[in-house]
Amino acid sequence: MTKTVPQMSEARRYQQLRAHLSYLKLADAAEHLPRILDAARTENLSLTATLERLLEIEVNATESRRLTSRLRFACLPQPWTMGDFDFAAQPGVDAKLINDLASLRFLDDAANVLFVGPPGVGKTMLAVALARGGVEAGHRVYFTTAADLAARCHKAALEGRWHTCMRFFAGPKLLVIDELGYLPLPGDGASALFQVINQRYLKSSTILTTNVGIADWATAFGDATVAAAMLDRLLHRATVVGIDGPSYRLRHHQATAETMRKAVAAHVSLTPAHASLLDRIHRHQSNQNLLLGSLPQTRLGTTQTPRRRRRPAASTAARSHPRLPSLRRARHHRRFAHHPPSRPTKHSRRQHDRSAATPHLLN
Ligand code: ADP
Ligand code: MG
Repeated sequence: MTKTVPQMSEARRYQQLRAHLSYLKLADAAEHLPRILDAARTENLSLTATLERLLEIEVNATESRRLTSRLRFACLPQPWTMGDFDFAAQPGVDAKLINDLASLRFLDDAANVLFVGPPGVGKTMLAVALARGGVEAGHRVYFTTAADLAARCHKAALEGRWHTCMRFFAGPKLLVIDELGYLPLPGDGASALFQVINQRYLKSSTILTTNVGIADWATAFGDATVAAAMLDRLLHRATVVGIDGPSYRLRHHQATAETMRKAVAAHVSLTPAHASLLDRIHRHQSNQNLLLGSLPQTRLGTTQTPRRRRRPAASTAARSHPRLPSLRRARHHRRFAHHPPSRPTKHSRRQHDRSAATPHLLN
């Protein structure tokens, strides 16, 4: 007597297949199974082609989930990519060098990148774009600011989690430390930063952005030995990108100021609102120039002394001002060149001095 094996119906087999896919947590493949089976029938696909299509769906979904999770972990402050960076707006930036960095070869060498420059020149943007490239290439990346890193290490030390904290900062293939030098680091901040840099040295890459020229690190950290030890490790294998250009944030304001200055030169009468805006822009630019003047520019390890701020020479109009004694003409010009008062009274001069002494940022 022959034993008959009960034939599983096609519908039951389909249900079993779906259950297997769900059990293996291949949810996307399970969801798209009916569509792929229909396509296999209508397009007369081979068994191999059908399976390949099904698994491709699952692989794509997994990759997209992993990318999302790496991006979430990275804590990038903006979704900037290298394509967003306008090289024409910052001619001081070597596009070839940046594109070479964007290939992420420096990650294989555990090399570092330092972006040095005044505020608004795109240091954070470039660091974020490189970090995003790293995330998309499948690397573990983490973005933090120097102040945040110092605060977290300090808290961890107080709570007895120092080693866990150090392990956390040692983990990512690429660590971005933004804004070093903007805020003073607390007492143990410099040593925490040193330990993070030290344990990553020759193992994984760090990108650092700072407004402090390398020559001034000792002063910025308040400890020349720690600064020298940190620089030693950072610069051993590093690309230093010095950006010495105009602030991108102030481009719009500068363009507006230029238009209005031209209007003044052409004797076009300004509305009080425009005159006040012109005055604010002028004062803001003076503050910005002071900042730029105090920054020593660093390019690939060579340092230059800080540039001295050039005082504008007194104009012909100021020189020939009938009422001013000769020694005060240049000062008068500097004060009123862009906003000439109809009659400089004692009161208006005092008002102007008081407002010019207050740092006033436009945005
Ligand atoms: P920094 O870190 O040097 O202070 P950011 O990278 O934060 O400057 O840039 C300031 C702002 O200006 C950001 O909104 C950034 O998108 C923009 N920006 C700066 N440089 C450029 C550039 N070359 N192309 C496009 N946007 C830029
Ligand atoms: Mg920045």
